[in-house]
Amino acid sequence: MASSFSQISTIPLSIHNIGKSFGKQSVLSDVSLDVNAGELVCLLGPSGCGKTTLLRIIAGLEKQDSGRLMMGPRDISRAHPQDRDYGILFQSYALFPNLTVAQNISYGLSTRNLLRSEMRERTEQMLELVGLSAIANKYPGQLSGGQQQRVGLARALAPSPSLLLLDEPMSALDAKVREHLRHELRSLQKNLGITTVMVTHDQDEAMVMADRIALMNQGRIEQFDTPENIYRNPATPFVANFIGQANWLDYQSTSQGKAHLGPLSLSLDNIPDGGPGRLFCRPEALRVDNLPQASNSIAAQIVDKLFLGNRYRLTVALEQLEDQHLVAEISTDLTAMPLNTGRIWLTLPSHSLQAFPGAAA
Ligand code: ATP
Repeated sequence: MASSFSQISTIPLSIHNIGKSFGKQSVLSDVSLDVNAGELVCLLGPSGCGKTTLLRIIAGLEKQDSGRLMMGPRDISRAHPQDRDYGILFQSYALFPNLTVAQNISYGLSTRNLLRSEMRERTEQMLELVGLSAIANKYPGQLSGGQQQRVGLARALAPSPSLLLLDEPMSALDAKVREHLRHELRSLQKNLGITTVMVTHDQDEAMVMADRIALMNQGRIEQFDTPENIYRNPATPFVANFIGQANWLDYQSTSQGKAHLGPLSLSLDNIPDGGPGRLFCRPEALRVDNLPQASNSIAAQIVDKLFLGNRYRLTVALEQLEDQHLVAEISTDLTAMPLNTGRIWLTLPSHSLQAFPGAAA
């Protein structure tokens, strides 16, 4: 897509203490988010956690029971949707089948008092922006899913809104098109500098596209952070489990910088003395050797091995903790040792272990 287009004013969006119930069902509880000007924030979470309801409240298509919405200095909490200055793109293409691509895009401008020539010029700019100038006169039925979503995007952006709202915009597309469009959409959004909120339940999509992710669970935000921090330093066990793969080990107590698990003790960076809890670490943080290492090395047996091309995924049973399995992922390049049978030594680096005191299994 071309990117020489800039008439968008970048403004922040602030969401303060939003609450929403449908009948007796509380769907959003005290949700607050500050989206910076030009930032792309993904609302991510399992089905039913309230992502779409929050997006619809931002759009004014649903009314919050409590809380406030600010777009820059403007309080839009009670503004009509047409007065909120956003463009929106849904999962379904929602194009008019009897209008051409160009007519669909100019439809987005019909509420503006523009001259015919201005409208034509603007439509041409938008066609160029999304790389569809060559098919301006085709009808939606003649386009692929990816092309239809680009038309939808051009229509949403045509009036130069200050905010772009995306509701699972790629979930109806096949995997290859989706991956391609992700990158296009992201670079377009960056070039325009348009503040964007996108709903997705696809963690990979959120990871590659978002400046920050608001990870939601049961109507609340569990963590609002960069993709790296969400992955590396999950704030709650829910976040750790939702994103990527998680290993868990129960411990009985902590003292002198160590967590005690039955006969084992593992060192952690910065752990206060305390009672029971759970240790978390990512599979790729574990090291596999055929000799014990200096610290946090524990004896284990490989019970399963999957070859995933660039890495092995090993399931290992810990010798000293009954019925305790961990998953380790190691690069196939770096693995000179045989990984078939017998004992291995698993090292859990202290900096990669995170403790969740008191967390129930
Ligand atoms: P999904 O990923 O499945 O779309 P979501 O996280 O976007 O889920 P929402 O669509 O916001 O979740 O729905 C949150 C909850 O609110 C669900 O339990 C849903 O059934 C309920 N809900 C949403 N809209 C309404 C409505 N208009 N009336 C009653 N209940 C609703």
